[in-house]
Amino acid sequence: RGWNFNPGPAALPLEVLEQAKEAFVEYGDQGLSLLEMSHRSRTVERIVAETERLLLDLIGLSSEYRVLFMGGGASAQFALVPMNFLGEGKVGRYLVSGSFAEKAYREALTIGQAEALASGKAEGWRKLPDVRQLKVATDTAYVHMTTNNTIEGSQFRDLPDTGEIPLIGDMTSDILSRRLDWTKFALVYAAAQKNLGPAGVTAVIVREELIKAGNKQIPSIFQYRTYADNSSLYNTPPVHAIYMMKLTLEWTARQGGIPELEKRNERKIGFLYEAIDAGDGFYQGIVEKPYRSMMNATWRMRDEGLEKQFVLESEREGFIGLAGHRSVGGLRASAYNAVPEEACKALAEFMNDFIRKHG
Ligand code: PLP
Repeated sequence: RGWNFNPGPAALPLEVLEQAKEAFVEYGDQGLSLLEMSHRSRTVERIVAETERLLLDLIGLSSEYRVLFMGGGASAQFALVPMNFLGEGKVGRYLVSGSFAEKAYREALTIGQAEALASGKAEGWRKLPDVRQLKVATDTAYVHMTTNNTIEGSQFRDLPDTGEIPLIGDMTSDILSRRLDWTKFALVYAAAQKNLGPAGVTAVIVREELIKAGNKQIPSIFQYRTYADNSSLYNTPPVHAIYMMKLTLEWTARQGGIPELEKRNERKIGFLYEAIDAGDGFYQGIVEKPYRSMMNATWRMRDEGLEKQFVLESEREGFIGLAGHRSVGGLRASAYNAVPEEACKALAEFMNDFIRKHG
């Protein structure tokens, strides 16, 4: 298999792909593929319920939280969060830490009042604000943060303490990658296509209390309570994508869960940042060191003319997905949970060799 550093859809464990392949043709004893089964069947109900339980078990959350399986990707959540929780006279406050955070903020502005608590745009997204002492006004509907900025390659180490005010997190690109105090969040959403499975479904982990507080004046398909009340089976869900999430969660548990993956992820990204820094300016990390992401390493080359060459040669060596996002350029290696340590070691070696050749 190629060394897959794609930012998303991202690498999936081979075991998961093999298991999913079987279910694709035949699942259970009715002579049906999982794709042909009614979402009203006991089989599908069970898959959805087990996926919810597995995710809550992995993150160690109590029964105060539900997991909802929704469509429209994380981008739909950018709109659904303010639609549900941004009431009259209240302000949605956003930590604008990267391009996706900014998109979420801009969607909120189309729905109600929103404000940026901090923005890193003027500094080229190289830094993150210190959120440990974050103060929020009492008219705040919720605080929204993007825990890992996929495009820029930065990641919050700390979570703010927002007290009674709901903290909402977009964890699309770092869910299940590290230990966290999950109870600080009232709602977390993550599109599946990085650490949770294939694209097509978004997991929303939400405190029951917040579900109840949601706006009832919007179409029911956009209300979180509709998904909670119907165990995510109000309308036809992407059953196979949810099933693949279940397989990915089982794989995650078999690896030793979040604590083990966190250790692995630290070692993996460590190889890459070491290679970036060892180049003595040949490679230049985009984000300042304290804010570097454990999932997405981003860098430029001192000689920008060599960036294309780097991508070309890396592809020849079997490395996939190293070009930076079209909006920022440069290079990016996304080392999500399913990317093996050997891949990161091999990439670091390739980077060292590339200096010897072109430095
Ligand atoms: N938020 C973050 C942090 C992401 O990394 C992404 C996609 O890469 C998105 C949102 C958008 O997700 P989707 O394409 O599922 O709408």
